[in-house]
Amino acid sequence: MYRLLGADFHAYIVGGGVRDMLLGNEPKDFDIATNAKPEEVKKLFKNARVIGRRFKIVHIRFGREIIEVTTFRANHNPQNQIADHVPLRQIRGLDSAHSKSGMILRDNVYGDIDEDAMRRDFTVNALYYTTRNFELLDFAEGLTDLNNKQIRIIGDAEDRYKEDPVRMLRAIRFAAKLNFEIEEKTNKPINDLAYLLDSVSSARLFDETLKLLIGGSAQRTFNLLRKYQLGSYLLAPTIEAFEQGDVISTNLVELALRNTDQRLAQGKSVTPAFLFAALLWPVLKLKLAASKNQNLHPQQAFQQAAQAALMEQLDYTAIPKRFTVASREIWELQNRLQRRNKQSVESVFNHPRFRAAYDFLLLREEAGEELNGLGQWWTNFQNGDTKLRMELIAAVSKSKKRRGRRRKRNPSGVSE
Ligand code: ATP
Ligand code: MG
Repeated sequence: MYRLLGADFHAYIVGGGVRDMLLGNEPKDFDIATNAKPEEVKKLFKNARVIGRRFKIVHIRFGREIIEVTTFRANHNPQNQIADHVPLRQIRGLDSAHSKSGMILRDNVYGDIDEDAMRRDFTVNALYYTTRNFELLDFAEGLTDLNNKQIRIIGDAEDRYKEDPVRMLRAIRFAAKLNFEIEEKTNKPINDLAYLLDSVSSARLFDETLKLLIGGSAQRTFNLLRKYQLGSYLLAPTIEAFEQGDVISTNLVELALRNTDQRLAQGKSVTPAFLFAALLWPVLKLKLAASKNQNLHPQQAFQQAAQAALMEQLDYTAIPKRFTVASREIWELQNRLQRRNKQSVESVFNHPRFRAAYDFLLLREEAGEELNGLGQWWTNFQNGDTKLRMELIAAVSKSKKRRGRRRKRNPSGVSE
């Protein structure tokens, strides 16, 4: 902001940076709005990159942080109306484009700050702060809504959701994260317009899903997503499993969301791979159950079910491959954590995904799955020295032999 001001541009902190500071929370990041054009911004910073086509912005890197710099946008009444389902390459080069249904395809028409404010999503996100005269600008009565804890859309809710259906998800995200209410006119059209999310790319939906789930209020967010029927456009397989699945595996989803919130509150990290492994666990279970009478080898049945569960989710959110690979490993390790001979213990313990798989195992037990103290065994194993570890392994093989003998005496396998 200081550098832009020094070069005689206007520059404001806007959005979450201002909103969260006014609420006494620590902003996640800072977004800057300016009258400098992307190319002008780029000239001022050597660590700047212009990104985005639909909505061009400049990313400026400061160490590990990225600051988004956005040039003031103006309203553009849809002259450039494009028929639905036209390939994006055909609108390359246009600054402004809407689909027939009102969706914004290009939003690169620049304007003044007051026009910019009206293009933003919610009133509490349209507060601008600058160190020039230390001004706080409020074009949309955002301060009032901030004090009343209201998420209120700017303009006509229906039109604004049609322009960009992701705003419905953002309403939920902010309501959950800030513990605000969604104002009535803002929340009314959501149920009816939820279907518009079908036309949003699965790549963008993946980004939004992550923001929804790792914003610190995953549990509340998930409940709101279900309440407003938006969940079926992001996490349909999971939502369906909540209707058909067993209580234990849906419990696991809820516990995973709660854990996520707790971990984030403690400043710990959460990985998308773990989250999706948990979210799709009830889906995997349903698929495994469905394949029971196909007479497959258990390993094969598991592989197929895992593949199918992940593929189904990929229709909604484009989860990058590195995460789906890791989710699958977390699942696969669940079986391998059961076998506890010396060799397999070593290989599992040294697996890069061991820690995540162990956490997942604890979650399964917490959710109510009966695993004969498997989680505790692995806890002891990790805490133990070499001697104790050998003893733990020996104890398992002894009890296995004992069970084997019993089974021989009683071949029916039914315990006495
Ligand atoms: P967070 O704490 O998650 O960063 P934020 O409000 O800063 O919250 P961003 O996604 O960083 O959200 O966006 C910055 C600002 O850009 C928003 O506050 C809002 O003013 C504007 N904005 C972002 N996305 C949209 C959108 N889809 N439609 C309209 N305005 C948007
Ligand atoms: Mg932000």
